[in-house]
Amino acid sequence: MPRRQLPFFENVTILDAGAEGKAVARVNDLVVFVPFCVPGDVVDIQVISKRKSYCEGKAVKFHHYSELRVEPFCEHFGTCGGCRWQNLSYEQQLKYKQKQIDDHFTRIGKFSFPAILPILASPLETGYRNKLEYTFSDRRWLNADDMALPDDQRQSNGLGFHIPTLFDRVLDIKHCYHQPEPSNAIRLAVRDFTLQKGWSFYNPRSHEGFMRNLLIRNTLTDDWMVIVVFAYDAKEEITQLMTFIAESFLQITSLIYVVNTKQNDVITDQEMLIWKGEPFITESMDAPVEGGKKLQFRIGPVSFYQTNPLQAYYLYKTAFELADFKGDELVYDLYCGTGTITNFVAPYVKKAVGVEYVPSAIDDAHTNSELNLIDNTVFFAGDLAKVLNVEFVQQNGRPDVIITDPPRSGMHENVVKQILQIEPQKVVYVSCNTATQARDIALMIEKYEVTAVQPVDMFPHTHHVENVVLLTRRK
Ligand code: SAH
Repeated sequence: MPRRQLPFFENVTILDAGAEGKAVARVNDLVVFVPFCVPGDVVDIQVISKRKSYCEGKAVKFHHYSELRVEPFCEHFGTCGGCRWQNLSYEQQLKYKQKQIDDHFTRIGKFSFPAILPILASPLETGYRNKLEYTFSDRRWLNADDMALPDDQRQSNGLGFHIPTLFDRVLDIKHCYHQPEPSNAIRLAVRDFTLQKGWSFYNPRSHEGFMRNLLIRNTLTDDWMVIVVFAYDAKEEITQLMTFIAESFLQITSLIYVVNTKQNDVITDQEMLIWKGEPFITESMDAPVEGGKKLQFRIGPVSFYQTNPLQAYYLYKTAFELADFKGDELVYDLYCGTGTITNFVAPYVKKAVGVEYVPSAIDDAHTNSELNLIDNTVFFAGDLAKVLNVEFVQQNGRPDVIITDPPRSGMHENVVKQILQIEPQKVVYVSCNTATQARDIALMIEKYEVTAVQPVDMFPHTHHVENVVLLTRRK
């Protein structure tokens, strides 16, 4: 439908901070999603796409700015997809995250649950991430200042984040508040060096250009990993850039490059070429109990590790405390990734069994047990929907506690069915998507009662929320 025929709504009050970071309004029976608005704003909305029961719109005029608004601190707010809630105070963000859980459990789950415990705020509101992935592009997003320049003075190369929904457009980032320094300094130095050399930036449509991606990872122990991805093996240029990075940033403990000649950006299947330092960084995490032994986790270039490492500790501690171990339990850790939770709880139980379908993550999980001298863990690589069956339970024993931490899609129905067959005394369900968590718990509610709900905020300024639920077997 041509845009001019789509509805235009005047004087609409924004009601809620809703799904995917878009604010929610209601016009008659129609739900309207509007990005970059805040509950309490009064706006005119141009609808840009319409479905049966909802539509997506754009606020084209503000009649009233909500009292809940704060000034976004990042110059890229509004264009970058990263922190869409920066115009809402952190306190309000937490309130709306908590409300989202209440809504999902009531509306989707339709089960009874105790009062949701106050959400745990992130210890850091900026600089909380340990990983950023940047893309080089020869077609960067042009802002109003760029557009004002004559064609021949306009820089079209950029290094930054993809613009939401535009896979071939990259926002050239001047400063990102997500990761501590020298993250920005590294990115800007690499950007300036390659621009000065006149090297080409990648074009994802024609698949031409030399510079592809830049990944920066760090740990709380101040290890730094930098990975530069090139499109082809130009030895001379690669040597120049890698030498420059190594000499400019002595704090880098793992400097790696990749030559990715494929059309897609995935590097998990590519060879990691170590330029300097170790092929990994090492994170440290406190024990869940006072006086317990600190843990170390080895993180390789493609290993998963929770991206807010300070808050990850409180997330795991919440799961640990809700499980309330006595010491003789058999525990299953489903969707265990690199076995972080498995190893976190193992010293306080009889045995911990981790299952995960990425084989390299299971290798990391083994390494992490060895590194921490933990000998009561076992790990299996496989799809949980198939692996978790009667034979598996016969071989490994019937667990007293199951910890489950599935991806956003939630647990496969077979996994839920198996848990109901196994009937552990407790299930600790860690989720990054409370809509699927509500759906899964609804299937378990005849056998299990929701006895605690503890949200944890891992991602300030975004709509994402992590939630830990304790399910206790009914008598
Ligand atoms: N608990 C871990 C990671 C959880 S992320 C931590 O805190 O670090 C969810 C994990 O589930 C990912 O590692 C993903 O690879 C894995 N996964 C997704 N689908 C799966 C499936 N069907 N079977 C097994 N593992 C799966």
